Amino acid sequence: MARVARSRHEFGEHGGVNLSIETSATFTVMEAGKMPAIFEGREGPGGGCFLYGRHFNPTVMVLARHLAALEATESAYCTASGMAAISGSLLHACNNGDHIVAGQALYGGTWALLHDFLRKAGIETTFVDLSDLASVEAAFTSRTRVLYCETVSNPTLRVANLPALAAIAHRHGALLIVDNTFAPLSISPSLHGADVVIHSLTKFINGASDIVAGCVCASGAFIDGMYDLHLGSLMLLGPTMDPRSAYEVATRFPNLGLRMHEHARRASRCAEMLTALGATVIYPGLPSHPDHALHCELANPGYGAGGLLAVDLGTAERANRFMEHLQNIEDFGYMAVSLGFSDTLMSASASSTSSELDEQALQRAGISPGLVRLSIGYTGLLEDRLEQLERGWRAATG
Ligand code: PLP
Repeated sequence: MARVARSRHEFGEHGGVNLSIETSATFTVMEAGKMPAIFEGREGPGGGCFLYGRHFNPTVMVLARHLAALEATESAYCTASGMAAISGSLLHACNNGDHIVAGQALYGGTWALLHDFLRKAGIETTFVDLSDLASVEAAFTSRTRVLYCETVSNPTLRVANLPALAAIAHRHGALLIVDNTFAPLSISPSLHGADVVIHSLTKFINGASDIVAGCVCASGAFIDGMYDLHLGSLMLLGPTMDPRSAYEVATRFPNLGLRMHEHARRASRCAEMLTALGATVIYPGLPSHPDHALHCELANPGYGAGGLLAVDLGTAERANRFMEHLQNIEDFGYMAVSLGFSDTLMSASASSTSSELDEQALQRAGISPGLVRLSIGYTGLLEDRLEQLERGWRAATG
């Protein structure tokens, strides 16, 4: 959070402590010659020259500046969703005929974008087990432009070995693009070699489950290319963030550190308690997690091992019993997709947010029908929450 605190504070129009919302979709120039200069890229938002809301908006730019500080990148750009940030980045980095190497455990929407949608655009993806670095390297071809992964994978919570993956990508002249949605503040991918860092702001960063938004954090050149007025992927696809949303996210940003700390503190206690009951728990903070040591190596101090954990109940029936009991009897949380909310959200990934993956891909990614992903919230007393969770576990497995 220190980098964020050092980034320029934006005062409101009349000296207000909150930033103002610039709602205009279009902006005037004082001399006619300015307009062609903006279109040619000689003048731009960096110098205070705004043109049109799909290109740049001053309020959205303030949020982008915070996000660049968060991820220690030169620049950042905000989008209307996390998927827009992912598709815009990949379409900027790849042309027809290019190739992507990606982790096999990914959010279902990203998996489908790579597996089906981009294939239609002539961009092929090879999915690999990222923990097997030899097979990652072997998947590269002369057409590989991107190595794509999630810092902490959805929903299996495997941790990507970012320094090793960056070395492989860079050896082949490719970019390492990382979705850091599950680990804001706790891991800073750009400090471990990532070239592009993406977030679904919908999740922890906004934290209120009331806005869908995303961002791309990268070098100035990468970001400039994406919003190039004539050819930029985001300029032409048009997934623009509304300035009112940017304002909301920006006002919640200062308490992200407190929230992440508390999500992780509680998730860690839940993971320990369930483990003690004999549950199969996946949580990077547990010494039994295959990437525990790697997580300790990569993580910034003070934010724990994240707010997500997964519990494998073996069958879909037990998973459903577990979630229904926790929601309908205990008021422990909600059966809902998404994550990073103040209350706990629970979903059985195989039949929901990973249902895009075919049977084989689910198996390879390690997503069983009984796997329940929990995004642990921070409402209520922790001791009460632990008791509710224990009762839910016993009701599902007893
Ligand atoms: N990346 C990850 C890891 C996600 O879990 C999700 C959504 O669940 C996304 C990206 C997509 O984000 P959005 O829903 O904001 O488009």
